[in-house]
Amino acid sequence: MNSSSPENKEAAKVQAESATRPSNFIREMFIEDLKTKKYGDAVVQTRFPPEPNGYLHIGHAKAICLDFGLADEFGGKTNLRFDDTNPEKEEQEYVDSIQTDVRWLGFEWERLCYASDYFDQLFEWAVQLVKAGKAYVDDLTADEIRQHRGTLTEPGKNSPYRERSVEENLDLFERMRKGEFPDGTRVLRAKIDMASPNLNMRDPVMYRILHAEHHRTGDKWCIYPMYDYAHGQSDSLEKVTHSMCTLEFTDHQPLYKWYIEQLGIFPSQQIEFDRLNLTYTLLSKRKLLQLVQEKRVNGWDDPRMPTICGIRRRGFTAEAIRNFCGAIGASRTNGSTDIEMLEHFQREDLNKRVPRAMAVLRPLKVVIENYPEGQEEFVEVANNPEDAGAGVRQVPFSREIYIEQDDFREVPPPKYYRLSPGKEVRLRNAYFITAKNVVKDAAGNVVEVHCTYDPASRGGNSPDGRKVKSTIHWVSAKHAIEAEIRIYDKLFTKADPSQLEEGEDFMSGLNPNSLETLMDAKLEPSLASAKAEDHYQFERVGYFCADLDSKPGKLVFNRTLPLKDTWAKIEKKAGA
Ligand code: ATP
Ligand code: MG
Repeated sequence: MNSSSPENKEAAKVQAESATRPSNFIREMFIEDLKTKKYGDAVVQTRFPPEPNGYLHIGHAKAICLDFGLADEFGGKTNLRFDDTNPEKEEQEYVDSIQTDVRWLGFEWERLCYASDYFDQLFEWAVQLVKAGKAYVDDLTADEIRQHRGTLTEPGKNSPYRERSVEENLDLFERMRKGEFPDGTRVLRAKIDMASPNLNMRDPVMYRILHAEHHRTGDKWCIYPMYDYAHGQSDSLEKVTHSMCTLEFTDHQPLYKWYIEQLGIFPSQQIEFDRLNLTYTLLSKRKLLQLVQEKRVNGWDDPRMPTICGIRRRGFTAEAIRNFCGAIGASRTNGSTDIEMLEHFQREDLNKRVPRAMAVLRPLKVVIENYPEGQEEFVEVANNPEDAGAGVRQVPFSREIYIEQDDFREVPPPKYYRLSPGKEVRLRNAYFITAKNVVKDAAGNVVEVHCTYDPASRGGNSPDGRKVKSTIHWVSAKHAIEAEIRIYDKLFTKADPSQLEEGEDFMSGLNPNSLETLMDAKLEPSLASAKAEDHYQFERVGYFCADLDSKPGKLVFNRTLPLKDTWAKIEKKAGA
């Protein structure tokens, strides 16, 4: 499909509209806060705060584009902060991969921070709250705390330990820190209001005892702060002006503010936006980890995974992901985005930039009987018809070529305009050929098609105004290089793989045909120099990217996407 097809024109229009779409609500807030000088002369400061318990996925890319992208727009700064308060689930491997992925997306942080950098300060502040009578040590078990919490309709009950003296609390908290008590025996809780309509305000836990080795602080600590206590205070320490997070934290905002007010520290503000949900895709590190651990995929960077490293390996580009994130913006209600929209932005990007090549994925030999034996020549082919500056290349042509099995039918169905006995077609940039007869194997399968060619049609031009109804791609048999091709399809068959029937496991939604491997594809020889992550459009077939497993002499290509753009059609139908 080329740029002048109706689908692409429509798509281009949609994209142009999205570029001028009204700004998202967070941008409006930035503008307002800068106008009213809410933070004086301070610049916008944001942070991206992943927990290093898995690899980043496309949902994180949305958060990254908001945190880094919006700060950039306003001349602000962004920290990358690892929210490493759960030592049992966190690993250095994840810390490293997250940095690689953020940089690959095209962003650079101002400071690299860790919540664990602040453990000493957080502990001091907790002591300060204890001294102010705003926090207490509770000996209830986790179950008892849950029972005391009440429900949305019933207030909670005070813990019998709630009125401990400051001295006793200080002593117990210090002994918790020293490691005198086993895991789960005591917690430090904020003393707020057990009758609050907001369950998060019913004396939330600030610290728990966990005798676990931390990937950075080792065994220095055996008490760890809870997310809600660590997060806002870390923001405040970094003088974060706009702390963006997803909507499920909306009910935590009063607690975020409460800690900051009680401590009288820098007033960072939390802003909630909608989580990205993509059709046919699961965006949860926990579930993605399960896919990896149960070997349903080949690791975090399996090209079927929605992880940044997975879609990168598949052949998606940082530019396309950023464009997509820009177009979806941010809103205050959760919804679901069609995967086709992401794919559309990806095609737009690749269509403009990547070289074309001819590759035959499922080869069928064609012998051109009247082409002299031993003769060969080169035909000139544009590297990218979308980009005049991309130049041309010479592609070898000879008597025996490969075409796609699908481009020949011995008995053509109605409206089949490609090659069949007696029919003439154009070989792209080469000649017109007419099929004469076929050679079959013992099982009756066509293994060779014999044709004749018209020497006067060189370059694929009609010599006498004669029309052919189709143009097919080809590769010279003698010059072809072989490659393994991995054809990927959706990892899940259900539009919403997290929507489960009772007793159903999300694994049951896996697409059993998400990977098809083709071992004997034939490629034009210019592809011999392809290196991992080189992108191409294989003419008429799709967008492909050389895989990390690719080695000189043993090339492997991933299909990034087929050519057809379905999103433009979906939008058109929706009356866009
Ligand atoms: P997961 O459930 O996949 O583990 P998470 O929210 O626990 O996701 P974090 O590492 O805590 O992952 O996320 C870092 C930041 O990325 C947070 O601000 C979070 O709100 C944001 N984020 C995570 N998933 C999405 C998503 N699907 N869409 C938008 N932002 C997201
Ligand atoms: Mg999390």
